[in-house]
Amino acid sequence: ILILGIETSCDETAAAVIRNGREVLSNVISSQIELHKLYGGVVPEIASRKHIEKINQVIEAALKEANVTLDEIDSIGVTYGPGLVGALLVGVAEAKAISYAKNIDLVGVHHISGHISANYIENLELQPPFMCLVVSGGHTHLLLVKDYGKYEIIGMTRDDAAGEAFDKVARAIGLGYPGGPKIDILSKEGNPNAIKFPRAHIEDNKYDFSFSGVKSAVLNYINSCQMKNIEINKADIAASFQNAVVEVLVNNAVHAVEEYQMDKLAIAGGVASNTSLRKAMKLACEENGIKLYHPSPIFCTDNAAMIGVAAYYEYINGTRHGLDLNAVPNLKFT
Ligand code: ATP
Ligand code: MG
Ligand code: FE
Repeated sequence: ILILGIETSCDETAAAVIRNGREVLSNVISSQIELHKLYGGVVPEIASRKHIEKINQVIEAALKEANVTLDEIDSIGVTYGPGLVGALLVGVAEAKAISYAKNIDLVGVHHISGHISANYIENLELQPPFMCLVVSGGHTHLLLVKDYGKYEIIGMTRDDAAGEAFDKVARAIGLGYPGGPKIDILSKEGNPNAIKFPRAHIEDNKYDFSFSGVKSAVLNYINSCQMKNIEINKADIAASFQNAVVEVLVNNAVHAVEEYQMDKLAIAGGVASNTSLRKAMKLACEENGIKLYHPSPIFCTDNAAMIGVAAYYEYINGTRHGLDLNAVPNLKFT
């Protein structure tokens, strides 16, 4: 079974061809980062326009690289939410147009189900059930993957997403956009215990997260240094901030795995490529007899291969969407 995956929820125009759910025949990503950098973040209007310019050539490139034609494609899987409405609409409209013109089955995919499914690509033995920590630019979810495409949310952030906190702190210390990878690199030169930033613990759900407190603490720290005319050490701030975030992510995830008596943990989303998170999670999992899974960095941030994988499992379970499929910017999970 061949799936054409399409992803345009934010600032990546992406298409991929997936064979039998796990094999990536092509994975084409056209990133708009250079454009949005100028503004310090994603500008929705610019994103939609760029998607329109790129979508056809990205799909053509994905088909060509996979050495298949549209006539061989069994289903088109497309992200229909959550994300920027104008950006999502480009992918959804394109998918519907191809579906109609070529009479190919259409499957709408939840972007986060895609991020989670990225773990199936290189870990052929991974099968549900398992625990998954999703850490991306807009989401921080701890969830139980009960079956392919079937999720139970155990905890989530009450305010900022982990990636969002990375990006905001990076901006505060002048690292530019996107900040996550830059904090990751700069942290290697800093002392993670130099500054004690707060770790939030949520009283009524111990698996929930909160990252606005640590972000504010970093901002306050920078302000107070400036007031006292003390020069800030950016690497120490980056490393200490990252340390605080990673500690909470690891603790919550490992406790959830144990309480729900799982033996597998997967991490997903852009922040899952963070070196410090991977290292700390690996150590904690080894200590607790948990098998850890994560995608390669290229499958952690937005891509269409993960959407194709998620669509495959929906497709074989009988999910089909009609031409009334619409973009849903605030699409809920499960
Ligand atoms: P969502 O998936 O929630 O809709 P998104 O698609 O914008 O949001 P992703 O593409 O999954 O998010 O991930 C992007 C985020 O990951 C950004 O916030 C970015 O800073 C962060 N990120 C990427 N690499 C790293 C890294 N090495 N360390 C920390 N954060 C990182
Ligand atoms: Mg992006
Ligand atoms: Fe994403």
